[in-house]
Amino acid sequence: MNVQQIINDFKVESITGRYITLESIEPILKEWNTDNQLKIEGYSVLKRPIYSYTIGTGSTKILLWSQMHGNESTTTKALFDLLLFLNSENQEAKDFLNHFTFLCFPMLNPDGAWAYTRENANGVDLNRDAQDLSQPESQILRQAFNAFQPNFCFNLHDQRTIYGAGTSGNPATVSFLAPSYNMEREYNETRNKAIEVIVAMNEALQKIIPNQVGRFDDAFNLNCVGDTFQSLGVPTILFEAGHFQNDYLREHTRNFLFLALISGIQHIYENVIVNNEIDDYLRIPQNKVNFYDIVYKNVKINYDGIVKSTNFAIQFIEELIENKISFCAYFSEIGNLDSFFGHFEYDAKGALYSDDKENIPKLNRKANFYLEKNIKIGNGLPFNLYFLIFITNSSISFFKLYQ
Ligand SMILES: [Zn+2]
Repeated sequence: MNVQQIINDFKVESITGRYITLESIEPILKEWNTDNQLKIEGYSVLKRPIYSYTIGTGSTKILLWSQMHGNESTTTKALFDLLLFLNSENQEAKDFLNHFTFLCFPMLNPDGAWAYTRENANGVDLNRDAQDLSQPESQILRQAFNAFQPNFCFNLHDQRTIYGAGTSGNPATVSFLAPSYNMEREYNETRNKAIEVIVAMNEALQKIIPNQVGRFDDAFNLNCVGDTFQSLGVPTILFEAGHFQNDYLREHTRNFLFLALISGIQHIYENVIVNNEIDDYLRIPQNKVNFYDIVYKNVKINYDGIVKSTNFAIQFIEELIENKISFCAYFSEIGNLDSFFGHFEYDAKGALYSDDKENIPKLNRKANFYLEKNIKIGNGLPFNLYFLIFITNSSISFFKLYQ
């Protein structure tokens, strides 16, 4: 199977960027509803439909759900690319459909997606509601789990730009977790099956994003859906789409997630007997909170006549403004940043900081300032860098970058 070719050939072009709502996906789901694959499983708090899409006739059943957290849309894009592939005439897609039945919830939290929030319309984190099942969205997923009786569950999420793959200085572009099923974080047959799939996906990803795959913390919390499903005996995998260099719109990360999905499904399809997978799994570096979006080093700041050289960090906050996600830069740390990396690092080489207020950077204030009066920094970045990241980058094709 030429996975890279598949990733290049199958992309739902109409879904891009970070703000993916029900309006973005509904027309596509309806277009693909050629044989009653689409079903309304219930309604969100604000009465938006929660769709499932079932495809395949095989006996191995995989339950996938995305955008349980409304502002985590990258895996939704990857899931649509997967569905486009599965709906194609490709022979390998047909083989998958004979072997598997996929039950997909492309958007479990449509209210959160619309508002661009993690939580649902009641302000509840659905990934902490697996025991209480207090929300309609949680109940719908649980009912589907009970009725479908999956052999595997894929729990699809995004993670913030703050995570590194260990202490290597590389971002955790994709992270995985085989959640624990008990407090002791032991391994059993169920969890080991999830680990096997993760190891296969990691191997595939290492070929194109070496050292940019992380392993999520496995602290046990039965309120999380993955921990609950794992404890109920169904191998469950947490996918986290993270930051890739210059890719704030997560169009490259989308491809990596699509690749992970295909590789994971392929691994289950081939049903290879493997040993000692736990060691390979534990060799994936654990995620560390050690990144900021932007780090400025060696900046001189005049504190009431005393000039000090310091560093500061800036973080983008995603804000929904007029139906678009804006990345707004705020000062988030000032001082020693020794164990931290920046996705962008700028050595000011002793340039003096100034701004339109007190000429001192302040936490949680917008990052607009000058270096030596002549370099204007707007929204955290010099204009040429800002242009590169947010205006030009999404047009570079996956194939050109990774061929
Ligand atoms: Zn999430």
